[in-house]
Amino acid sequence: MPVTPKTPEELVIMREAGRINALALQAMRQAVRPGISTLELDAIAAEVLRQHGARPAFLGYPPGGEHPFPATITASINDELVHGIPRADRLLREGDIISLDCGTIFNGFVGDSAITVGVGIISAEAQRLLEVTEQALYEGIAAALAGNTTRDIARAVQRFVEQHGCSVVRDYAGHGVGRAMHEDLHVPNWWPNGRHSRYFRSEMLRPGHTFAIEPMISAGRAPVRTLDDHWTVVTQDGSLCAHFEHTVAVAPAGPPLILTAL
Ligand code: MG
Ligand code: MG
Repeated sequence: MPVTPKTPEELVIMREAGRINALALQAMRQAVRPGISTLELDAIAAEVLRQHGARPAFLGYPPGGEHPFPATITASINDELVHGIPRADRLLREGDIISLDCGTIFNGFVGDSAITVGVGIISAEAQRLLEVTEQALYEGIAAALAGNTTRDIARAVQRFVEQHGCSVVRDYAGHGVGRAMHEDLHVPNWWPNGRHSRYFRSEMLRPGHTFAIEPMISAGRAPVRTLDDHWTVVTQDGSLCAHFEHTVAVAPAGPPLILTAL
């Protein structure tokens, strides 16, 4: 199905949804400390959304699903990559790294963004993983130019990550964002050599295309599995992993607009 660019009016609303989402992430980042629970962080994000007349995109997702997600954020610690469920008994400890992912619905449009942050003093290995993953996101963003393709983004992310000795998780990807959290555009973080399945169809980027770029990176090997809670994704080898995400809009010329910036 062809991907429809957003109108300038729609982009104004998406920028506001993204800004509110950024405020929720900022509030959580400031609250991260040893001893706080992931459910307390979830409540902080939920309150920011409420104060701005927005609502959570993850809560109850997917609608009609067998195991709808029960919270505003996903909180994923250390070897947990994505989709961790906030819990009152899950307390942060000094040296942990935690991925905080939040989705906001405002005036019918979605913003989706994630950060990974350290708790207190973290190891040099963890710090390096955070830096590689965040910079990989910006490498992907720099490739999100009108006339480029989703393959250019994927290759930019993969090249940077592998140059730095880390692994791109294969199983998850960025996605179109708009009135729905997951629209048609598929934005992988890696690209196969010499194989072009339908899954990896390269899409031309056009002004007004809006999508999430979200490298999910392991300090060790790439394979992941999902826990019995139906959501939490962990690395199979127990490696530390990280996740950074922005929702962006392709510009008529030059770099994209980061919709989920503050
Ligand atoms: Mg997200
Ligand atoms: Mg996303």
